[in-house]
Amino acid sequence: MSYFLRRNEQNLFHGKFSIFPEDLFFHAISTRLGGVSESPFDGLNLALHVGDDSEKVLSNRKKFIQSLGYNLEDIVTPNQVHGEKIFRVEEIHRGRGSKNYSDSISETDALITNVPNLPLMLCFADCVPIFFADTENLAVGIAHGGWKGTMEKIAAKTFLAMKENFGTSAKNCIVGIGPSIGSCCYEVGREVLEECRKSFPNNFSEIVTERDGKNFLNLWAANKIQLLEVGLPEENIDVAEECTCCKSSWYFSYRAAKKNNFKDTGRIAATIGIRS
Ligand SMILES: [Zn+2]
Repeated sequence: MSYFLRRNEQNLFHGKFSIFPEDLFFHAISTRLGGVSESPFDGLNLALHVGDDSEKVLSNRKKFIQSLGYNLEDIVTPNQVHGEKIFRVEEIHRGRGSKNYSDSISETDALITNVPNLPLMLCFADCVPIFFADTENLAVGIAHGGWKGTMEKIAAKTFLAMKENFGTSAKNCIVGIGPSIGSCCYEVGREVLEECRKSFPNNFSEIVTERDGKNFLNLWAANKIQLLEVGLPEENIDVAEECTCCKSSWYFSYRAAKKNNFKDTGRIAATIGIRS
C-alpha cells in the first residue's frame, strides 16, 4: 500500500492511494501546482470561501475535475465547519456548491454517496482528508478531520453512517488517510490535549508526543485508531504520511502560510466517486 503523486497533463498532479481499485472508483488529492490563482492562493486554489478571485477558483476547479473525467457542474461540496455532521448525497444534490459557496451543503464535514459518477469534494489546508470506499456495495465517503473533527471521531462516524445507509461492512471498507499537517509540525496547546485525553484515554501517548517542552499531535494516528476501534482491519487503512506544512511548496498549508506572515492561503481538495 502506498500514497503517490501521479502527474497529469499541464503540470497537474493527482495524489493517490494504491489501495483504491481504479476500475470501481476515482479519487484524487490536488496539489497547489498548475493553477491560475495569485499569491497568497498560488496556484491551484480550489476553495471559494478564502477571498480568492472566484473566476480563478472556478477555472482551477474545472481543470482539476476535468482531469478526472468529470465536469464542474457534477461536483458536490459542503460548507465545512469543523463539526461532525455527515450528509448523504443523492442525485438531486449534483452541482451543489460547485460554482457558488452559498449553495454548498450547509455546515457539513463529511459526505457519503452510492450514486455513481458524482464527485464528492472537500477542501483542506493542513486538516486530514479521509477517503472511504465500500468495495462490495459500491459506496464512497470523504471526511474532513481537523483536530476538532478528529476528537469527535468523524472518521469512525463516517464509516458508521456508510454502514447504516449502504450496509457497508468493516471488512469491505477501505480507507485512505491523506496528506495533512504531521506530528513533525503540529504543535498544540492545552485545550487540544485535554480533548485528546477525553477522546483517546487509552491511546493518548500514541497520539501526542512531547519535544522540548512542546506537545505535538499526530492526526494520522488518531484517525487510524478510531477506525480500528470500529472494527476496520488494519490492512484496509492506508496512511499517506505526507506533511503539508513540511511540503508547503506542494500543498497549501495554513501553518506554513502563517509562518511566512500570510493571513490565509489556498485550499487543496480531495475528491472521490464511484465509476459507473
Ligand atoms: Zn511537518
